[in-house]
Amino acid sequence: MTAYKNYIGGQWVESVSGRTYQVYNPAHKTEAVGEFQTSSVDDAGAAVAAAREALPGWANTPAPGRAAVLFRALEIMGRRAEEIARAITTEEGKPIGDARGEVRRAMNIIEYAAGEGRRMFGYTTPSELPNTVAYTVKRPLGVVGVITPWNFPIAIPAWKMAPALICGNALVFKPASSTPLCAVKLAEVFEEAGLPPGVLNLITGPGAQVGNALVEDPRVNGISFTGSTEIGTALYARGAGVLKKVQAEMGGKNAVILLSDADMDKALGGIVQGAFGSTGQRCTATSRVIVEEAVYDEFVAGLLERTAGLRVGDGIDPEVDVSPLCGQGQYDKVLEYIGVGAEEGANLAYGGRGLTGGEYDEGYYVEPTVFTDVSPDMRIAKEEIFGPVLTVFKAKDLEEAIEISNSVEFGLSSSVYTRDLTRAFEYINTVETGMVHVNAPTLGGEVHLPFGGLKSSGVGQREQGTEAFDFFTETITVYIDHGEAARQQARFI
Ligand code: NAP
Repeated sequence: MTAYKNYIGGQWVESVSGRTYQVYNPAHKTEAVGEFQTSSVDDAGAAVAAAREALPGWANTPAPGRAAVLFRALEIMGRRAEEIARAITTEEGKPIGDARGEVRRAMNIIEYAAGEGRRMFGYTTPSELPNTVAYTVKRPLGVVGVITPWNFPIAIPAWKMAPALICGNALVFKPASSTPLCAVKLAEVFEEAGLPPGVLNLITGPGAQVGNALVEDPRVNGISFTGSTEIGTALYARGAGVLKKVQAEMGGKNAVILLSDADMDKALGGIVQGAFGSTGQRCTATSRVIVEEAVYDEFVAGLLERTAGLRVGDGIDPEVDVSPLCGQGQYDKVLEYIGVGAEEGANLAYGGRGLTGGEYDEGYYVEPTVFTDVSPDMRIAKEEIFGPVLTVFKAKDLEEAIEISNSVEFGLSSSVYTRDLTRAFEYINTVETGMVHVNAPTLGGEVHLPFGGLKSSGVGQREQGTEAFDFFTETITVYIDHGEAARQQARFI
């Protein structure tokens, strides 16, 4: 089994305790992906110290010089794209096509952030005082902790790191325990690109210990977190207690509203892709469909037919549509929710079982599952399941559909299918999510547009788009009095 190390101060090192853990392929439970360091508070401390030391040199490197490193990383990632995509599938389980798309997404954000190296604008404005120049300038936030989930093990770290690096910050990266190989590959890319030692540090291992150590360390200036609402909320509160800048992107319970005038074929395609693509393990996955009653029966018939046509198997096979869940914890959780749905009285219209026999015995496979006749007060209607489980609701009109859509604590992404512009805008203006789609799946986003949620789905500044650079910088306001005479006027504040 290959043993991988932490990356601290430009060196690949073992954890202070010397303890390690193993990660296995979710499609082949006995096939080891590798052995990784079980980091502790001591390793977190060493990584923060390395980042602190590297910070001044990187922060004082002109932004176009920092961009040159990112452009090299882009080129290296392009060269290693297939290897990295296969690592994603082997470690996280998603279909290889989705993994290739994820690598492309990471490259897009690195390219976008690198371009910012020549565009890190402040602004100048006339001063109310004579002989005075007033302007703003952006300064790096400092040392930033990057804490990420397993479901996009390359793209999410990249969409935090690339903007953070171009802004001149030094990073301590704590990836999810289940996907450390992807994190190692990302660190290798930046190392090869010539990132100075200590600017990016990687520590693998359990979040509870290492993550809390990063938030509480006074040498860390900010935390960029993506993961569950439970952990994100606790981190945000802990960060607030020490006045630390924290951004937290968290869970979702994304709904599609299907109106009676919609293009049914297009809607079915988008909903099936949204619900079962990447095995439903996307923060933007479609987990609810709210259907106007006039087309409810037609939709359910089409949905069940398409779901039955999905091929379940090892994601490394390019013909596979739905691959295994990421691990035992995910498998148990999804099956538990399916049990809860049945107990609550929802109609289990398709699937519902853990798959067994042949290759299925080797991995964490759950059938794509559809519950119909779901009511908004059920747990499966409100809580994030994070697996291939779709809940279907009936609504009498758009107003009731929006009420159901907004009835959950989450507010990440949403979609409406309709040809009626008036109803589309009524929806856009009232739906409570940070990202809104019309006639398209709830999925994804483009790197040059902000990404994030409302309510329990997100707090702190948005990621991606120009907003990403706001989180990773402090804005400094400068006043220069270049007159010769002493000022006579009163100061206002
Ligand atoms: P998670 O359990 O919250 O873990 C996320 C990260 O936090 C992991 O690196 C984890 O480490 C670490 N962590 C755990 N406990 C911690 C603590 N006490 N202090 C600091 N860090 C800690 O989430 P997950 O299961 O990996 O990811 C799935 C969740 O992410 C879903 O809810 C999904 O919706 C959400 N997500 C949101 C977005 C978005 O942009 N809104 C995108 C993708 C995913 P360990 O792995 O070692 O526990």
